[in-house]
This record gives sequence, structure tokens and C-alpha cells, in this order.
Amino acid sequence: MPILEEPIKETLKLKNYVDGEWVASQGEVKDVVNPATGKVIAKVPISTKDEINAAVEAAKDAFPDWRRTPPVARGRCLFRLRDLMEQHFEELSRVQTMEHGKTIDESRGETRRGIENVEVAGGIPSLMMGCSLEDIAAGIDEYLIRQPLGVFGIIGPFNFPFMVPLWFAPYAVATGNCIIVKPSSEDPISQIKITELADEAGIPPGVWNLVNGGRTVVSGMLDHPDIKGMCFVGSTPVGRDVVYTRCGETGKRVIAQCGAKNFVLVMPDANLGRTVAACMTSFFGNTGQRCLSGANLVVVGEGLNEREYAAFYEKVVDAFVDAASRIRIGCGLDEAVQMGPLRDEGKKERVLGYIEKGIKEGAKLRLDGRNVTIIGDWPDTCFLGPTVFEDVTPEMTIGTEEIFGPVASVMRARSLDEAIEMIHSNPFGNAASIFTANGKWAREFQYRVECGNIGINIGIVAPMAFFPFSGMKNSFFGALHGQGREVVRFFTESKVVIQRWF
Ligand code: NAD
Repeated sequence: MPILEEPIKETLKLKNYVDGEWVASQGEVKDVVNPATGKVIAKVPISTKDEINAAVEAAKDAFPDWRRTPPVARGRCLFRLRDLMEQHFEELSRVQTMEHGKTIDESRGETRRGIENVEVAGGIPSLMMGCSLEDIAAGIDEYLIRQPLGVFGIIGPFNFPFMVPLWFAPYAVATGNCIIVKPSSEDPISQIKITELADEAGIPPGVWNLVNGGRTVVSGMLDHPDIKGMCFVGSTPVGRDVVYTRCGETGKRVIAQCGAKNFVLVMPDANLGRTVAACMTSFFGNTGQRCLSGANLVVVGEGLNEREYAAFYEKVVDAFVDAASRIRIGCGLDEAVQMGPLRDEGKKERVLGYIEKGIKEGAKLRLDGRNVTIIGDWPDTCFLGPTVFEDVTPEMTIGTEEIFGPVASVMRARSLDEAIEMIHSNPFGNAASIFTANGKWAREFQYRVECGNIGINIGIVAPMAFFPFSGMKNSFFGALHGQGREVVRFFTESKVVIQRWF
């Protein structure tokens, strides 16, 4: 099948967007490489401390006028942005595939989920409403209003370059705050495109800024006294030890959504065909580079005797391996392709290291994704096929740590209790799923499991824009989560007014 036309024709020289202007950075420049083709598609600046300070200044200056703009007018800007995103839907999706490597269908899904957040934030007059009660004492009324705080920093990860900053940015702006977005320097082009559209939608200068770069920009935000809060999505060591810790020291609000290691349970009564189909996208979608990816497949023998359990286990593993071995791998702009490359060579090396470790620690390699066959004539630098280990135990490195690649670890549990214990022994708490037709088991699972996102006969538990994107344990640091009403609370201060009528 021919590959779709590429929207990026020549190497882009990316700039920062500050105070309504596109400005060149003085910082050093890094290549953005399409991992499927190996072509350099953009040069991204690693901005300096002075440049982040200038963006904070611009955002701070824009704040007084923007917060006085009525919420309904701010909401209209977001609906215009939503319309522009719809008009550019296919281009935005292809850009994601080019800069990240994911398949075009995965990118289209990401674009849709991102736009939904802009839509929800457009309803800000209702979302931001306070409340009131008359006669808290005779002749005295009390009411609560929500007010914006000022300037917020938004730090994105590489794996969802379009969608993740939109868990925060539209709500921050809709509530009357001003923002600085720092996309991942590995794939920053989607956020450049969104910022161009935000400008076209009429969001005033200084309200929505973008500064490219890495840790200098992040620490510049963390240390800046005029930044009121930070939204971070990325790995646990950076989210917990850098962002959350520093926000605590400097008194900033913080949401830090971090790493994951997700368990998927298959109960004996599960519909095997549908379970395995759901598991393919769960474990291998986005090439396993998803905080909601299935990672540990637990075959649970609740109610089965030894012989029955052995047969059930084999049946599940055979079906899983068979389906995984048929996934078509190649360039994401080929619509026949079901799995793209990893984001870059370094990430592939890291995943290969985990495969080596799995073998060394005694897990059985049932499907080896190394030296995989690719559709098309692409350099094989970043490609890796689905890989399945059997007989993995929770103590093994591959059963415990986040691999962030297309590697599944199959585990055994004789009962639902034992499987839940396994989940709880893991330091992360992002997502967990159960496949079963038994309501009691499903209820028990959702009631007891310490994870922020629970799937019942669903493999990827991605909350809609009007629900929070939750997380527990080492997967989340903060109090309120991204998306919907919760993030509106994060971006606003409650003020209580008590009034006596003379
Ligand atoms: P990362 O932590 O390497 O980078 C995230 C962001 O932090 C990037 O913008 C990066 O430039 C910046 N950064 C990196 N090192 C830094 C440092 N030392 N100081 C300050 N800033 C720094 O994460 P990543 O590899 O881009 O993303 C993958 C991770 O994100 C995975 O762990 C994944 O599970 C997680 N993730 C979590 C969620 C969630 O909602 N829980 C969603 C998506 C991704």
C-alpha cells in the first residue's frame, strides 16, 4: 500500500512562541528524526533560561486583561480553536505519525482525544461556576467564586505529543490563566501546530506561549516565582524527584502524572477471542509506549483444578502469541501497518536491554521481536516486533519495571486474590484491567485494586475528557488530575464571600 502524503516536506526550523510572536532561540539546536524513515524533519531549539524568563514575563503581563475577559468569550476562543483543529484534523494526525512513529490510526485517535479536551474546556462558564447559600445566619449570605491564579507551566512527554498537553492547556486558558507549554524536544511539532491554530483562533498575545527545550526550561519554570503551578506528564524519576519535590519547596500547585506498569487479568470465563483482540492494542498499540499499555498478562485460575488451569493457561498464551506474531509492522503512514517503530534508537536499546534481562533472569521467551520483518524498505534502526515472555514472576525486572516497548510478560496466578496481590506488590498504580463475565469478580477487582484507571473487559483504560485522568502510588503525585472538572479546580482558587445585607 502506498504511504500517505507527508505534510512536512522540508526540514522545519522550529521557533518559540512568546507574546504572540514566533521568535528564534539562541540555544543549541537538536534534530527531530522521523523514526520510520530516519529523515530529519525538524530542528528544535533547546531554549535558554533567559528565554523562559521572557516567556513568563509575557504571560504575567497578559494575565490581568485575560482574566477580565468574560468566561463565555474565552470559551468562544476555544471553540474556534476546536473548529480549526477539525479543519486540520488529517494534517495534525500525519504530523504526529511523522514525528513520533505511531500508526496513522493511532494518531487520528490521539487527535480526536485532544480535540475533545478543547471542546470540554469551551464549556467553561458552567465548569467554573461557584455556588452560594443564602441565610447562613439571619440576613447573611455566603457564596464561593473560582478565580484564575496567573501563569502555569505545562510539560509534555514524548509518547502523546499532541494530546497530553491538551489535558491541561485549554482548561488553563479557559479559566483565565496564561500558560507556557514545553513539549518534549523529541517530538515538538504537534504543539507548534496547535500553537499556530491557537493564534489563529484569536487567543491574545501572551496568553498561550510555547518554549522548546529540555531540563533548563523545566527548572527555569520550577524556580520562577511568577509561575503559580506546574502540570507535568512523564517518567516517575523526573515527575516525583524533580517536579513534585521542587514544587513542594517553592509552594507551587502541581500535577505530576508519571510512569506505569499495568496488569491485565484473564479469568477462566473470559471471552477469549475478544480478550485477545483487546490485548493486542493494549500491549502493542503505540508500540507499547503508552502509560496505559498492558505490560503483565496474568492468567488467573480461579475455581480451576491443576489440570484445567494448565490447559486454560496454554490456550490463553497460544492465542495471545499467535495474534501478536501477526501484527504488521512498518511506517505509520502506510495504512496497512498496525505497529510503528519505537521513538528512537536509544529507546530501542533500552527495550533490548530489558529483553536480555528477561532471558538472564529465567523468563521463557515465547515470541522474539528482534530481527522482525518490516513492511516496506525502511532502515530497521528503531523497529522492534511484539515480544512475549512466559513464566514471568513479579520479582523479575521485566515483571516490575516500566519497559515502555512492545514486550508482554505472561504471569500465572491461581486465584483472583493472588493476582490482586501481584498488582499491589508493584510500585506503580496507573491502570489495571480484568477480562471476565463474572460480575462478582469484576466488582471485587474494581473495589480493591489500587490503580487510578480500572478496565472491565477493556484493555486501554483511557478516560474521556470530562473524567479525570487518574493514577495512584508511583504513577501520580499531586491532588487533582488532568482533564475535565478536576483540572478546572486545579487552575482556580476558591474565594468565599460572606455578605450581610443592611
Ligand atoms: P521524561 O520524564 O523523560 O520527560 C518528560 C518531560 O520532562 C519532557 O518534556 C522532558 O523534556 C522533561 N525532562 C526530562 N528530564 C528532565 C529533567 N531531568 N528535569 C526536568 N525536565 C526533564 O518522560 P518521557 O520519556 O518523555 O515520557 C514517557 C514517560 O511518561 C513514561 O514513564 C510514561 O509512563 C509517562 N506517561 C505518563 C502518563 C500518565 O498520565 N501517567 C501519560 C503519558 C506518559
